Amino acid sequence: MSTTRLSSTGLVVSAHSADFIWRAGGAIALYSKRGWRITVVCLSYGERGESQKLWKDSSMTLDRVKAARRAEAEKAGQVLGVNEFGFFDLGDYPLRTNLEALERLADIYQSLRPAWVLTHSHEDPYNFDHPEATRFAQEARVVAQAHGRRGAAAAIGAPPVFLFEPHQPEQCNWKPQLILDITEVWDIKRKAFEQMDAQEHLWEYYTRVALQRGAQGARNSERKMTHGEAYQRVFPTVTENFQ
Ligand SMILES: [Zn+2]
Repeated sequence: MSTTRLSSTGLVVSAHSADFIWRAGGAIALYSKRGWRITVVCLSYGERGESQKLWKDSSMTLDRVKAARRAEAEKAGQVLGVNEFGFFDLGDYPLRTNLEALERLADIYQSLRPAWVLTHSHEDPYNFDHPEATRFAQEARVVAQAHGRRGAAAAIGAPPVFLFEPHQPEQCNWKPQLILDITEVWDIKRKAFEQMDAQEHLWEYYTRVALQRGAQGARNSERKMTHGEAYQRVFPTVTENFQ
């Protein structure tokens, strides 16, 4: 976690417009505080599947839900320090990606040249949109690495990919392999939760997750941390040190 990296940019690919807040809000706030440029791509607004509270109003329409979810995500993004959003509006439940969207995301990779990428778990039997977002984010990364796409100079290197914590990790074959200490930005992450009026039922749930990972982070280190955010690695970490 050095701030002297050549590319001080991070990319988060979120299936629905709120996923990045619960699962990666701490990482975004932490790196934003360090002066990094953070881009969040939301493949959908979660308008059908993750907006239950809004649909209690029987006069609700899909367009109004989308607008409300986008506004919430932007407000939360402002709290966390997101520099820019890419709203792909591909629909949810089901989320279906296409070639045009793949090229758009590959262009984002090539212009941003992120030092790391955060996205969903590989599996999620409760939600097929999440693994689809992961597959898509990884395919776009590989496409952006191709020298024949826009020439060798445009091709990106190999930014590490970290998979953020799914709602029920055991069912998703997801294991924490990295616990990020988000204690110093916890208040910011919690404030971002509070912008998500449509999913108020998750505020306390994800506060408990952060506390749990915080306790485990302290147990696995010398850190006096209280709040954590866990990730699974896709690729091996390449380093010259064990520490
Ligand atoms: Zn989601």
